[in-house]
Amino acid sequence: MLSQKMLSLGKKSSSIREIFEYSKKRKAEIGSENVFDFSLGNPSIPAPKEVDDAIKGFIDSFDSIDLHGYTSAQGDMQVRETIAKSITERFDVPASANNIYMTCGAAASLTISLKAIINEGDEVILLAPYFPEHKVFAENAGAVVREVLCKEPRFEIDFSELEMAVNKNTRAIIVNSPNNPTGVVLSEDNIKRLSEFLNEKQKQFGREITIIADEPYRELVYDDEVVPYIPKYYDNTIVCYSYSKSLSIPGERIGYIFVSPKMENSEDTFFAVCGAGRSMGYVCAPSLLQRTVAACEGIKPDLSAYDKNRKALYEGLTKIGYSAVRPDGAFYLFVKALEEDAAAFCERAKKYELLLVPSDSFGVSGYVRIAYCVGYEQIANSLPAFEMLYKEYNEEK
Ligand code: PLP
Repeated sequence: MLSQKMLSLGKKSSSIREIFEYSKKRKAEIGSENVFDFSLGNPSIPAPKEVDDAIKGFIDSFDSIDLHGYTSAQGDMQVRETIAKSITERFDVPASANNIYMTCGAAASLTISLKAIINEGDEVILLAPYFPEHKVFAENAGAVVREVLCKEPRFEIDFSELEMAVNKNTRAIIVNSPNNPTGVVLSEDNIKRLSEFLNEKQKQFGREITIIADEPYRELVYDDEVVPYIPKYYDNTIVCYSYSKSLSIPGERIGYIFVSPKMENSEDTFFAVCGAGRSMGYVCAPSLLQRTVAACEGIKPDLSAYDKNRKALYEGLTKIGYSAVRPDGAFYLFVKALEEDAAAFCERAKKYELLLVPSDSFGVSGYVRIAYCVGYEQIANSLPAFEMLYKEYNEEK
């Protein structure tokens, strides 16, 4: 007998992946230049030169056994020291190697962190719209998920909704800023207010409520936007970081967990993280990549290509008449669908070879996500198609 839960997860691939598969088929039929595939958040700018240089340098200078061998389960000590030092310097937050656990990207950081803190009956709050895998990961850790809708139009935290959702079973809240799918960066005021709110709730219910800060897009922000570093504002925080998007290396699977030393029982939380990593077979993240990211720590990506896309798409679509959330970061644009049923809207968009992701799997209805991490030509060439789609809806009115 198979695990029915896993069987259904495996059979029901994510809607993003489904569209991506459709796009491959369609591109083979009519040519890739004729398909406007906005489905996947796959970075389209190359990894900084320093990444390739570091890898080549390690291959040339290391003994092969040392380079490709296991590191300790939680990661190489020097790598963890480098990352901890960088956190302290950049964010003015105390950090040491003993707070850092190296992982295979943000997905692993999240699954390990959730597994480390969740007990039977615990609830995890997801702020909608949220990255669909958050729900999969939280439920797999045994949590009951509670969705809290954010406030339109900017999708900031709605504290009256949050007040209704937090209760004596609340164990964690996942905060993802810059956000996938909206691109919104939560303001310092929002984070301060969230910290005050959760501190009060911790007192009221006499238990820890952990913020799990999912931060793969931290470095992807525009117009000098500042992303508040949550451990600075709230003690019970675990940061799930990934280099997938900041260094354009999603296939290399590398990231880390930072367990804030200011957590009530930080040392034991770190042990629980080690235990969760062990129980799920997530020990010793790829050795070569651990060293590479340490060598590249602090290197900023060149965001000019994403920024150009962001402006062209946001301005182009709003000029046509679409309504969209102006993104501060990441590489997604969240656009209001032209009918209530976002999936039906996406189906109709396919007529113009526009491949968009309906918002339902992100926990809200009536929007679509456009991943603009594509070549600029695709943005420019797709605007007439968006215009035709808009006209088609308007003619029906
Ligand atoms: N969290 C969010 C919000 C994401 O958008 C993604 C990937 O798109 C992940 C986590 C997973 O990142 P990684 O590829 O580093 O596992």
